[in-house]
Amino acid sequence: FDQRDGYIWFNGALIPWRDAKLHVLSHGLHYGSSVFEGERAYGGVIFKSTEHSERFKRSAQILDFEIPYSVAELDAAKAAVVKANGFDSCYVRPVAWRGSEMMAVAAQNSTINVAIAVWDWPSMFDVATKMKGIRLDIADYRRPDPQTAPSLAKAAGLYMICTISKHRAERRGYADALMLDWQGRVAECTGANIFFVKDGVLHTPLADCFLDGITRRTVIDLARRRGMEVIERRIMPDELPEFSECFICGTGAEVTPVAEAGPYRFTPGAISRTLIEDYTREVNPKAAAA
Ligand code: PMP
Repeated sequence: FDQRDGYIWFNGALIPWRDAKLHVLSHGLHYGSSVFEGERAYGGVIFKSTEHSERFKRSAQILDFEIPYSVAELDAAKAAVVKANGFDSCYVRPVAWRGSEMMAVAAQNSTINVAIAVWDWPSMFDVATKMKGIRLDIADYRRPDPQTAPSLAKAAGLYMICTISKHRAERRGYADALMLDWQGRVAECTGANIFFVKDGVLHTPLADCFLDGITRRTVIDLARRRGMEVIERRIMPDELPEFSECFICGTGAEVTPVAEAGPYRFTPGAISRTLIEDYTREVNPKAAAA
């Protein structure tokens, strides 16, 4: 990933992609003092850029550091990187980390570094393919108690349990893994939130110990605009046989139906299809109008 043409925004300036390096004694690498975002631009416009910038700053504050740019500056920087790299649609990755001035647990005086990269990540809006549904493993690792970890931050360190779970899932032939939370409730996937359908009503876990995805909130909004009922609540795995449809959603995954989660089976249907279509229109109104 490091040998590419293009530009990365690094601490305030656009620099060549290959030159965007950090020192091996960076606190973020050793102690996980790093937060990031994942966004998508559609038709040259980053979807909900400001919400992502706000979450980025909030994630850093939860990890006890302040990103030294305002939300407006971050929004402008992200737009500039998309433009400099000549993308119309792409993935956008802001990342912030503590630098190399202090190499111990305490690092109050370390520099806060911020970089923004963008790359091609085609969105998969082929509805027919999506409607086959993906298969989910059930992860061994659980989302931690918010009293144990900064669960609501998009913190790099929290992703080690996601990478372990995703690798195990892929090794076993699944697309992703469903993670339970510390209390054994259904939580989310390794990089996406999850929804279920019963009798035309959407049910989704309360986002009290995992990321309250911007896509999750968008889907709730789209469903309510259609007059659908959406219930956020505790969902236990033994309830899964009662649901007819299931889908995951996130910036990367967009809205993707699920056919299997461990021993449970779902049939992607009308509600998943409607929300895929509504989400496609919502993120890229220009393309929808064309
Ligand atoms: N949960 C996790 C663990 C994620 O990595 C993501 C992707 N950022 C999400 C949920 C969905 O968040 P969003 O819709 O804001 O992309």
